[in-house]
Amino acid sequence: APFEPVLVDPLPRRLTVGVDVGGVQVGGGAPVVVQSMTNTDTADIDATVRQVAQLSRAGSEIVRITVDRDESAAAVPRIRERLDRLGLSVPLVGDFHYIGHKLLADHPACAEALAKYRINPGNVGFKDKKDRQFVEIVEQAIRWNKPVRIGVNWGSLDQELLTRLMDANAALPAPAPARAVMREAIIRSALLSAQLAEETGLSRNRILLSAKVSNVQDLIGVYRDLSRRTDHALHLGLTEAGMGTKGIVASAASMGILLQEGIGDTIRVSLTPEPGGDRTREVQVAQELLQTMGFRQFIPIVAACPGCGRTTSTLFQELAETIQSDIRENMPVWRERYPGVEALSVAVMGCIVNGPGESKHADIGISLPGTAEVPSAPVYMDGVKVATLRGATIAHDFHQMVLQYIER
Ligand code: SF4
Repeated sequence: APFEPVLVDPLPRRLTVGVDVGGVQVGGGAPVVVQSMTNTDTADIDATVRQVAQLSRAGSEIVRITVDRDESAAAVPRIRERLDRLGLSVPLVGDFHYIGHKLLADHPACAEALAKYRINPGNVGFKDKKDRQFVEIVEQAIRWNKPVRIGVNWGSLDQELLTRLMDANAALPAPAPARAVMREAIIRSALLSAQLAEETGLSRNRILLSAKVSNVQDLIGVYRDLSRRTDHALHLGLTEAGMGTKGIVASAASMGILLQEGIGDTIRVSLTPEPGGDRTREVQVAQELLQTMGFRQFIPIVAACPGCGRTTSTLFQELAETIQSDIRENMPVWRERYPGVEALSVAVMGCIVNGPGESKHADIGISLPGTAEVPSAPVYMDGVKVATLRGATIAHDFHQMVLQYIER
């Protein structure tokens, strides 16, 4: 039969209006930006500086902080100064709810220090005050020349808008399912708020939109629709994604599909950390999502096989783990010293079934013996077998070869 090669690549990125967030370009053809959010009390300057620094060093290109009261607003410029002194220029975004208009007006140094304001149109105020308070925040953004993210959230949706749409839907001869009305309310809240911001005088290249929900299928549906109806830059995120693997899988599944369709200019993976757990996990997951999909390169990838009944030795797992943690630890230095090191691929394979093939595809790879009794392991560099390691020092020797390869 004739051979017809089928190549499934990501769809072209949707071209959105680019927004400058404190020197980081979001949308407008820029690479998808990774961002994260602190969970410290912003009024606690030490704790917040510490966490922003951790997130930034882990690779978060934008960090959002809560600005919920006078004390936190007053802390923002001091946090900015401390970060600058540490040489960390990561843009800070202020997350405002309920009284953002007041906090920005009362704390001009905070308004100036932030690189972007996040407004939730579902809770800027109630009834007649709602639009006025929204406009006041937008006016502050215009005054300080800052962008805003209009961040609609399923959990705090504008109830008046939802009720209006529900009533209109109920009056139809064939009403749509309630879930479809909810989706439409989320999208319309974002679009109407963007329109109001523009009518207030904020230019299009100062507006980002997000419309977060906690259900994977709803998120995909909402963003597909939103991206068809606007060219504003889009911030992707599954809200309340959850803990552990559940949060990671749900975020990757939903955002992976959207990114494949060219939708999304910046992403945040919202994971619930273990109490006292590492907040940088969400940055790592966001980076790995973008890297495994081939959109960006942040850190060398270590491909390792899962192991199976053919392996009686755990050597390959231990070696893969060592190489992976070594890379993570050294990346800040390597990034400076060895430009392009992010693109490196390493393979650590468990036996000869797939080992040599996978190792040849990597920049440097090893096919370890499946059993401890056969201590010899071929090593490949750039697709060519360069050595066979033997004996008890295989792991150490391969580790050294990886370091030499990076240096070379
Ligand atoms: Fe099993 Fe070998 Fe395949 Fe690894 S490479 S999963 S050890 S058969």
